[in-house]
Amino acid sequence: MRILSGVEARRAMRSVLKAGEVASKSGCGRAKCGSIIVNNGKIIGEGFNSSAGGEDKRCGVSKADFDLKVTDKTCCVHAEQRAIMNALSRNGDRIVGSRLYFARLDKEGEVSFAGDPYCTICSKMALDVGISEFVLFREEGICVFDTKEYNDLSFEYMSG
Ligand SMILES: [Zn+2]
Ligand SMILES: [Zn+2]
Repeated sequence: MRILSGVEARRAMRSVLKAGEVASKSGCGRAKCGSIIVNNGKIIGEGFNSSAGGEDKRCGVSKADFDLKVTDKTCCVHAEQRAIMNALSRNGDRIVGSRLYFARLDKEGEVSFAGDPYCTICSKMALDVGISEFVLFREEGICVFDTKEYNDLSFEYMSG
């Protein structure tokens, strides 16, 4: 992981804020997240979290109600998944070597600091399609992870 500075950081911050704008379209009752995928300065895919098929609303269901074997207990299709699917359908030939930006909004609708990576669903998917870097806006700055590293960290995650 490396923390960006200078021009690189300012440019990346614009993409983080753009991901935040995308996040504001989410209708999720728990969290509003957005993601954009950029290659050579061009947005090739974007997405926000929302219910599967626009119908299957589970935002009010407690994760504790699901069995341990239910692999993804989150209510919505994740913003990163949506952005990846969007990029595959619009710019499938440009996804290899791209960079994914992620943003989560706080209650006031501002982009909030991300914690440690933990979503193995998105990390595996990003790695599998050939996205090179995963970017999080964190307290220490804008952090760029190699996607392989991001996937390893997600699997190593420990809460508390
Ligand atoms: Zn939801
Ligand atoms: Zn995810």
